[in-house]
Amino acid sequence: MPSVFILVDGARADVFYEMLSQGLLPNIQKHVAERGVAVRNALTVFPSTTGPAHAPFLTGAFPGPLNIPGIRWFDRRKNSYQNYGPLAWLQFERDYVGPEAFAMNSDMNGKIKTIFEKLKDLTTASIFEPITRGAKFVYPPLANVMAKVFGPIGLFTWEHVDTLAARTFEMVYRCSALVKWMKLPSEPPAFSAVYMPGVDEASHEHGPLSKNVRHALQNVDKQIGHIAKTLIDLKLYDETSIVIGSDHGLRPTNLHFDLAKFLSTVGLDVRSFPVTFLQGLGEFDATVAISGNGMAHIYLAAEGAEEKAFPLQYIKHNWRRKPKLETLENYKIRKGRVNIIDLISHLLPVQHVFVAENKTTSHVYSCDGHGIIRKKGRNEYLYDVIEGKDPLGYDSIVKDGKIAYREWLNDKEWLTATSEAQFPDVPVQVSQIFESARSGDLIINSRMGWDLMLELPPHRGTHGGLHAAEMRVPLLIANSRYEIKPNQPLRTLDALDILLA
Ligand SMILES: [Zn+2]
Repeated sequence: MPSVFILVDGARADVFYEMLSQGLLPNIQKHVAERGVAVRNALTVFPSTTGPAHAPFLTGAFPGPLNIPGIRWFDRRKNSYQNYGPLAWLQFERDYVGPEAFAMNSDMNGKIKTIFEKLKDLTTASIFEPITRGAKFVYPPLANVMAKVFGPIGLFTWEHVDTLAARTFEMVYRCSALVKWMKLPSEPPAFSAVYMPGVDEASHEHGPLSKNVRHALQNVDKQIGHIAKTLIDLKLYDETSIVIGSDHGLRPTNLHFDLAKFLSTVGLDVRSFPVTFLQGLGEFDATVAISGNGMAHIYLAAEGAEEKAFPLQYIKHNWRRKPKLETLENYKIRKGRVNIIDLISHLLPVQHVFVAENKTTSHVYSCDGHGIIRKKGRNEYLYDVIEGKDPLGYDSIVKDGKIAYREWLNDKEWLTATSEAQFPDVPVQVSQIFESARSGDLIINSRMGWDLMLELPPHRGTHGGLHAAEMRVPLLIANSRYEIKPNQPLRTLDALDILLA
C-alpha cells in the first residue's frame, strides 16, 4: 500500500496530544487520527537526537547496529598514523549538524536496508530528509541554509522550511514527467518521507513548552492539510497510509555545563565539536561528541599506547586501543590518578554515566548508585542494582507482581514494563548503542535542566538523553493494514513495518 511518512522533528508527545485533544490540530485530527490510531506510548531511541533517531523509522533498526551512535561521533579505529593526512578527519569523525548530514547514508551499516532500498522497484521520494539512501527522487533541504541566514531577522523562518516541504510534496505528486528537467517522477511515489524541522528549532530557541512551539505545530498541521488535499485531489487518499512521527521530544533547559572544558581543567587535551582549525592540527587525549546537547560520548586514550613519531606529526596515542574498565577507574590525569567514572558521575549536571565492560555487560552510574545491564543471546536483557540507590528508579516498577530486577526480559517486555518510567527502556537502549564501535568509552545522560555545551543563542530546550520528555514521541498512523492497539507501546523503529504494510 502506498505510504507517506511525515517526520515532525522534536515534537513532545504530551504537547502534541494536548493540542490534538484541544482541537488545535484539526487537519491531523481529520486526516490522520480519525482514520487510524494515535499511539500514546511510543518511544524513540537513544540517542534521542536528529539524524540517528530518524534512521529507525526508515530502516527499522537502532542507531547502534546502524553504526551512527550520535549526531557527532569519533571513530577511534580510524585515527591512526596509517591514515594520517590533511583529510584524515573525514574518516575518523563526523558532525551531522550541517552539510556532513548527507554522509549518514554512507556511514550507516550497508547490510541494513533503508525503506527506499527495500522499495527499489517502485518510485520513492525523500523530501528534505537527510537519509536518502536508495531513494529515486531526492529533494535536499537547501531551505535550511535560508533559515539559518535569514531566520534571525525573521525573513525566512524554520516554519517556512516546513511550509516549503509540504509545497515540494505537492509539486512531486501533482506534476508529471512533462517537467523532466525539474527531476519530477512520472507517477506519484509509492513512498515518500517528508521532513519538517520547524518544531525542533522553535523548541531549542524558545523552550519545548513555549507558544512558539505551539505556533510551529499549528503550521505543521496546516501543511499536513495541504498534503492530504493533494492526495484527495489525485484520488490517492483512500489508498495511501499516512504516518506522522517524531524523532525525539525535548526537556526545558536553562543551565549549560561545558563538559569539554571541564575535562581540560583536569589536565586532558580535549578535542570537541565543532572542531576548530587549531584543534584540528593538535594532538589530543580525549574527544567529546555531544548530541542534542543533553547526551555526550567521551572517548579517552588508552594508557601505554603511545604512537611513535612519524614524518609529519607526532601522534600521541594509539587510538585503536580502548581503555578497559579498570583503566577508567584509575585514570591518569595531570596530577596523579582518578576514577574518571566517579569524577563525572558526581558532577551536578550529570544524571547517568554508561560504560560498556564488554560486548554483553554495561554499567549505569549515578551520583549515588551503580547498576548493571547484561545481554544474553539476541534479545534477552537483565538489569540489577549492585550498589546504592537504583540509578534508573526502576524499583517502583512492578511487572507481573514482581519487580523487574534480576529477570531476563526480551525487548518488548522491557518496553512494556518501563514505557512510562522516568527513564524508559534503558536496558535495551544502552545495550544497542554500545553495539556501535563509534560509541564513546563513557556515555553521558545529562540531568534535567542541564545541557552539556553552550551554543549561541543559548538553547532553551535539550534532548539526546533518556528522560521521558525526550524519549516519548507522538506516533499516528492512518489508513494502514497494520493492526495496532492504541495502548500498545511501540518504538519508532516499529514504524517501518507499518510503512511497508
Ligand atoms: Zn530532531
